[in-house]
Parts: sequence; C-alpha cells; structure tokens
Amino acid sequence: MTVQFAFDNSYARLPERFYAPLPPTPVARPKLIRINTALAEQLGLDADWLASEEGVSVLSGNLVPDGAASVALAYAGHQFGHFNPQLGDGRAILLGEVVGRDGLRRDIQLKGAGPTPFSRRGDGRAALGPVLREYLVSEAMAALGLPTTRALAAVTTGEEVVRETMLPGGVLTRVASSHIRVGTFQYFAAREDMEAVRLLADHAIARHYPEAAEAESPYLAFLGAVAERQATLIARWLSIGFIHGVMNTDNCSVAGETIDYGPCAFMDEYHPGTVFSSIDQNARYAYGNQPSIGLWNVSRLAETLLPLIDVDQAKALEAAKEVLGVYGPRFHAEYAGLLRRKIGLAEAREGDDDLAQDLLKLMMGNNADFTLTFRRLGEGDGSVAREQFMDPAAFDAWHRRWLERLAAETVPAEVRRTAMRGINPAFIPRNHLVEAALNAAIAHGDFGPFEEMLGVLSRPYDDRPGAERYMEPPLESERVRQTFCGT
Ligand code: AMP
Ligand code: MG
Repeated sequence: MTVQFAFDNSYARLPERFYAPLPPTPVARPKLIRINTALAEQLGLDADWLASEEGVSVLSGNLVPDGAASVALAYAGHQFGHFNPQLGDGRAILLGEVVGRDGLRRDIQLKGAGPTPFSRRGDGRAALGPVLREYLVSEAMAALGLPTTRALAAVTTGEEVVRETMLPGGVLTRVASSHIRVGTFQYFAAREDMEAVRLLADHAIARHYPEAAEAESPYLAFLGAVAERQATLIARWLSIGFIHGVMNTDNCSVAGETIDYGPCAFMDEYHPGTVFSSIDQNARYAYGNQPSIGLWNVSRLAETLLPLIDVDQAKALEAAKEVLGVYGPRFHAEYAGLLRRKIGLAEAREGDDDLAQDLLKLMMGNNADFTLTFRRLGEGDGSVAREQFMDPAAFDAWHRRWLERLAAETVPAEVRRTAMRGINPAFIPRNHLVEAALNAAIAHGDFGPFEEMLGVLSRPYDDRPGAERYMEPPLESERVRQTFCGT
C-alpha cells in the first residue's frame, strides 16, 4: 500500500498506560456507504483512494495502514452522576493523528471496530442506524457552525450485530480535534497517578490551549479555558435547540467539541424540560439542564487537577473555584448574545434579554416550534411567525413590542433579515426525518433519503425551494418520542 496517511501520533507517544495497542477486528464484507469528500480534502487525504477497495479495507478495519497507532484509549467517567473508574474505547480504535491542510491536528478513529480490552460486556460493534445517525447529526452540526467531531466515512460490515433484534453492522470513521475527555483525566486521578494527570494536562495544553502554557499557573489557565469553551458550546447548543442526551463526563471533550452522538435530538416545540433519551429517566440531561451539567462536568475536571495547582489543597480548591466562576458569566453572555441576534437585534440595549425571554415563555405556553418561530420572525415584518402559536393574539402583543424595539435599530431591515437568516436555521435534523432516513437504509438498503437529507443539511441557513418538507415539524403520527443510545 502506498502511504496515504501522514500519521503523526502524538497521543501514542504518551506512556503505555494511556491506551491499549491492538488492531481493529476485520469484518466479513465491507461496503462503502459514503466518503465525506470535502473533509477528506481538508485533511489532505485522497477521497478517491478512500473510496477504493484498499481505502474501504482501512475504513472497515480490515487493513491497518502504515504508520497507524491503532490504539484503544483508556478513560473513566461519571455516567448519570455515578463514577465508573474504567470505561475506555470499548468499540473504537484510534488509527492515528494527521495534520490537515489547514495546519490543524486531528484524530482519525474507527467507531465500531471490534472488541478491545475496554469492551466490558459489549461486542465492540456499532449498528448501522447509530452510525448513520452520528454521520447525519455531526455533519449537520458542523454545517450549522458548531464545534463538533466530524464524519469522514461510513461503511457497512456485511455482518449483523445482536441488539434487541439482529441489525446490520457499520463502522463510522470519526474525526476529532482529539478524543481527550474529562473522563480521561478522571481515569488517572482515580488511580492516584498524578504523573499521568500532569502528562495528560501538558499534552492537552500543547494541543488545544497553547496560550495556557505561558500563564502564571498553566493548569489553572487550562481549567479556565476548558470551562469557557464548554460554556460557549452549550450556549450554542441551546441556540439551535440541540439536546446532547448523554452528557456524561466521558462524553465531554476538553477541546470543547460536541462528541458522542448517541440519543441526541433536536427539539421541535420549545420547552426547556425536553428529554428524548430513553435512558435519561430523571431528565438529568434535559435541554434546559445542559448549562448546569456543563459546569458540573468541568468541576469534575477541576478535581483531578487540584494536586497540580497547589501543594496546599485548600489553596488549590479556592483557586479552582475562582477560575470556575468564569463559567456562569461566559455562558450567560454568550447565550444572551445569541438570543439577541436570533431576534434580529444588532445592537445590545437594556431590556433585550427580557424581550427574548418573553418570546421563549410565550413559545413554551403555545407549543411553538423552536426552529420555525425564529426563522419566520426573520421573514418580512416577522408576522408570519404567529402561525406557530396556539394563541396568535398572544404573539401579536409580543410582536408589537418587538417592532417598537426594532425601530430603535440603526441597521436597515434587509440587513437585519439577512443576519437573522444567518443565525436561525431553516433546516435541522428533525427526529422524524432522521428516523425515516435511517429506517430506509436499515430495512431496505435504500440510502437515498440519507443522502438527500445530508445534502439539505449541508446548507442549513439557505432557503431551498422544494425542500419545505425538511422544514416542517412532524405530524402527530410521525412524532418521535424517544431516542436510543444505540450501543
Ligand atoms: P457511550 O454511551 O457510547 O458513550 O459509551 C459508554 C461506554 O460504553 C464507552 O466506554 C464505550 O466504549 C462503551 N461501549 C458502548 N457500546 C459498546 C459496544 N457495543 N461494545 C463495547 N463497548 C461499548
Ligand atoms: Mg461515549
């Protein structure tokens, strides 16, 4: 095989206790579903080669390319608040890292690549449905402009996996800035291996927060930077109606990317209590709880860093608490700014936050569709948004207040409408459509709906005549009430 990947595996140069080296387990009859050509180019990879027989062998785990690390990473994590000292990549293998044309270093990982020493009772495999789901939703998130892991490719394995029923198997090739999680720090802290925590922190700083290395206290600066990125990310989730669904500390990337798309979902009607995940019985990860859970997760990271921050642990705790104080203000500033822009206000004024919050309250009481309400508000004078409200008169009162506030803006109406179209998507991966696209592929081997949906979601802010059905909320009969982890 000619060299296709210019691997430079910095994580695999860390000590052996950070991972388990092993090859992926080959599959029976690998078949390509698709290559993400644009992403391949960004990474400096040859998309045609990836789609070739040899390329598909690599993407399915049947051939380990030269220079690959091929390791399963160790990590721990709090799952629904309960600490598990050993999770790790139970069905994923990190092939290695490449530096893209943009100069950015990224992990290339095969998800569903067979059992590893971290598989516990799992089979190490992924069913086709969750593979396609992660492909669709992570690529939609990227097109929406949010920090996220990406999907480079998806293949079917020609093998079945046993879940509640027999399902076709698949492998997703995932690309991430790194796979370092809050849970990775917890893994070493739980073993009181502070040398490893330090090495990991230094690695994460060099890779994601090089400016922290220059700070008076690099580990405090690192903590503050992770907290800020997490707060910003979650504000952005809220701004597009995204519910991660399983924000365990092992699914929380220290690089601030959305990672591990399991039972995630986009909300149709606005309600902060919205939960889709079948396993989230106590609504821990409900839409509106995400900001506080983000802080909870970053606080778990802080605990692992305390011994590095100060030999005096009381002092270290005080300092960490102070740094974590950035989270709340950062989240609120980001969220308020996004909401203000979502209602078309370019200039911040006193009372804007109340105006936006009052709209949300009204939406909640009126079963208004989150995405469509904001999108319609940016059309004409915004009055078409009233169709989203069970009591349109209640909207009219808010609408008058909003028009008065708009009158104080100096930005021309057309510029405002363009800005609103740029922040309020027309297209999100609506649950019922995701489900339909996955079902067509799983039940009939028809990847047409999946491909069509990917196309629509690739430009979520552009009007697209003919694609109206992708904008519409579900009919009562189409409504998806629960999403599943897919493990
Ligand atoms: P997740 O809920 O997908 O974030 O996974 C939580 C943990 O379970 C991680 O350690 C995964 O590697 C592991 N896991 C999930 N699915 C499987 C599977 N099919 N086989 C082995 N391990 C798995
Ligand atoms: Mg996970």
